[in-house]
Order: sequence, then structure tokens, then C-alpha cells
Amino acid sequence: MPLRFFNTYSREIEQFEPRNPTARPVRMYTCGPTVYSRAHIGNFRAYIFEDLLQRHLELRGYKVHRVMNITDVEDKTIRGAREASVPLQKFTEQFKEAFFEDAHTLRIKRADEYPAATDQRYIDRMIEMISALISKGLAYQADDKSVYFRINKFPDYGKLAHFDLTQLKATGRVKHDEYDKEHIGDFALWKAWDEADGDVKWDSPWGPGRPGWHIECSAMSMALLGDEIDIHCGGVDNIFPHHEAEIAQSEGVTGKKFVRYWLHCAHLLVDGQKMAKSLGNFYTVPDVLAKGYTGRELRYALLRVHYRVPLNFTWEGMNEARESLARVDEWLARLREIAKSGNLQHPTANPTTAFEDALDDDLNISAALGFLFESIRETNRAMDQNEMDAASANTWLEWWKRINTVLDLEAETEVAVPHEVAQLAQQRENARREKNWKRSDELRKRISALGWEVRDTKDGPKITRGAGSA
Ligand SMILES: [Zn+2]
Repeated sequence: MPLRFFNTYSREIEQFEPRNPTARPVRMYTCGPTVYSRAHIGNFRAYIFEDLLQRHLELRGYKVHRVMNITDVEDKTIRGAREASVPLQKFTEQFKEAFFEDAHTLRIKRADEYPAATDQRYIDRMIEMISALISKGLAYQADDKSVYFRINKFPDYGKLAHFDLTQLKATGRVKHDEYDKEHIGDFALWKAWDEADGDVKWDSPWGPGRPGWHIECSAMSMALLGDEIDIHCGGVDNIFPHHEAEIAQSEGVTGKKFVRYWLHCAHLLVDGQKMAKSLGNFYTVPDVLAKGYTGRELRYALLRVHYRVPLNFTWEGMNEARESLARVDEWLARLREIAKSGNLQHPTANPTTAFEDALDDDLNISAALGFLFESIRETNRAMDQNEMDAASANTWLEWWKRINTVLDLEAETEVAVPHEVAQLAQQRENARREKNWKRSDELRKRISALGWEVRDTKDGPKITRGAGSA
């Protein structure tokens, strides 16, 4: 059976047919963090779903080109920098670092690119797109000097969120990046500078100002992946207005179908409630680690529920994650023992393709894991009765290796990297991204002075014990 996914646009399960899979990789755009605070575990649930999606596509032989943007200028980052009385870049830098650290802890594969909205080349692209929209009559500059998208000139507006615009009362214009359908209106593409923006501004044909959040993703996606992409993901919160606006902007400029498959991840609840700082149930990755859990355990807890089903996070669930992983570890240890034994008797049944088949079905991870644990039960029984030979054990280990390219749940056997070294490596990675080679070199020396070595690989930096260290 071919891969199939639930497309938010059609509200149907559709067969996955990327535009040209033999000639080019699957083009995937995933909305990244808004770096105004440390991302919470609900945000990471969505990033882990995207990680699962990418890894499964790769298991099925697709090459994937994935872009994840970093939203470092919008209403919340500006407000945060102002409240902290620091420049915007300084304010967002700490949360960018934290994001990469947490993503690494959760074993999330790195995207191919992490464009930042404040990068001048993308600002230029946004301005270009807004100019094109104005010349097509799809956007206009209002009295407040900001530029807005004219939604009643774009007949498909509301199709992703499945709104019937004729049923909704338009309320004119909306300058905020986030709003709900009760306040549907023309959304801001370019926000004219005002005092609250401080020194955050760029020149444009419409005067100084800054981009709206939505145009950032349209411009970065088009710049790095082209006019038409295969998959666009995000959390359900992104559907409206963010993704709806992205469609209007991108298709408004190109006249082409922007995205073939829209995939959205459901909410994360904590103890059955929406996570909120005021309820004391708001957790970041370090909060969970501070309770003694590992990144691997949290990855499992956030991964194990189907992405379209709300996930209820509980500490009991974390303990279950720990127990499940212990079963996997124990099973692998037993298989390895038998694989080494040279036992030639009792070949057992080989694994079927049920794991991959379940993931083909709109990433049905619960069914896939169900098959894994069923297999563990059965092979354990065979091992209990001394009815497994070395070749069968090897076959199961090979199978695990294959499915673990998707799960990435094997226990860490290497020595843990000390926090200080990990932090320096992250700072070095940031310096590299900013092409600050001098600082990147200094940081490498400091890492090596601590007895560690950092190597740059296509999956990001790898930290190992340095030569000659204890
Ligand atoms: Zn976005």
C-alpha cells in the first residue's frame, strides 16, 4: 500500500504523490519556533511528529529537503526584547540556543536549513512579494501606513480552515499576528514602524517598518524550496490565521498551488488540561529532565500517540515510557547475546512489514509500536524456551536497526557530554551560522581544552571525546 496522509486542506486521507520524487527530494516546510521564550513540550510534540514524518519518508526511500524557519521578529519577540531592555537579536539568541539544545536532547533530526526572518535576504524577498501583491490588487497600503492583504480579492481565503466567509462578519483590518475567526479581516503584510517597535525596523517602499509573521514563512519557503512544495506542517494552532495567510500570499504572487499536503499535529494536554503558566502545568524540556527523566524517555512519551489525537502528558505516562524503553533495552540485550552464541537450532518467525505498513497509514505510530511490543513478547517467549537460533536473533536485530532509523530510541552507550561542553558546542554552531569563523574557532579550542572534539557532519555537529583525553 502506498503512503497516505490526512490532508487538512481536503479533510481527507490522500495517497502521497510528491511532485517529482525521482528528480528531486520531497520539499517539506515546517513552521519553527517563535524565539520569545523557551519552547514548551507541546511545541516539541509537533516537532517530533515532523521528525517522525521525515524519518518515515526516508525509510520509504524518499529524499527529503526540510526547511524550518526561526521566527525572530514578530509581536511577541519585540515585546519581550522591550520588556527585557535588550536589543532584539540579543533577546532572541538565548531562545534560539535553547531550542537547538532541546531538539538535540529529543534526538530530532536537524532540518537542512533554519532560515531566520531577520536575515536581510529574506526581508528583501518579503518586500518583493508584498510589491507583487500590491501590483495585482491583492494588497494595499492603509492610512496607518501598514500594508494589508485584501482577503475578499482572494476567493480561496478560508479554504484551509474550512471557513465560510459569507457567514463571518469581517471586521476590517487586523494588525496583530494572531487573531481568531471572530475577527476575520485583512491581515498585515508590512507593519509600519511605531514607537513600540524601538529600533526594530527595515526600509521599504512603504516607509520604515517590519514584516508581518505570515509573510515571513511564505518568503522563506519560496526562497529555499521554490513556488510549489510537497508538505507543509505545523500545529493545529497554525491553521488559522497563519497557514491560511501563507496560502493567500504565496498563491497570490505565483498563481500556482503552494502546498500539496497540509499536515497538522493536535494539541498536547497536561493532566487533561490545556498547558498554561497560570495552572502550574507548563513544562519545558529542562523541566522534565530536572525530574530525573531522560531526553529519550520524553521523546518516546511525545512520539507514541497518533499525531492527530490530542496527547495527554502525565508523569504516570513518563513512567510508562521508562518501562517500555526498559523492555526494549532488555530485549535487545537478549537478542545480542543469542546472536553471539552461534546457536543453530530453532529458527523463529521473521519480522513482517507490519511496522512500516502502519506508518504508511497516516503515520499510525500507535499501531506500529503495538506491533513492536507484540514482537518483543513473542520473541521473548521463544528465547525463554530456548527456541531461537543466532541467525533469527540477527534478523530481529537487523529489523530493529531499520525501524530505529525512524524511532531513534536506542539507549545511549556513549559517555554523556557534559553540559558545559554541549553549551559551548551550541554557541559555536550559532557562530558558524552567523559565519563568525573567528569566534567559532575560539570556541572549538575551548571545547578541545576540556578534552572534547567537535566535528561538523551533515546531521549537525557531533561531539566526541578528544584525542589524548582521559
Ligand atoms: Zn510559519
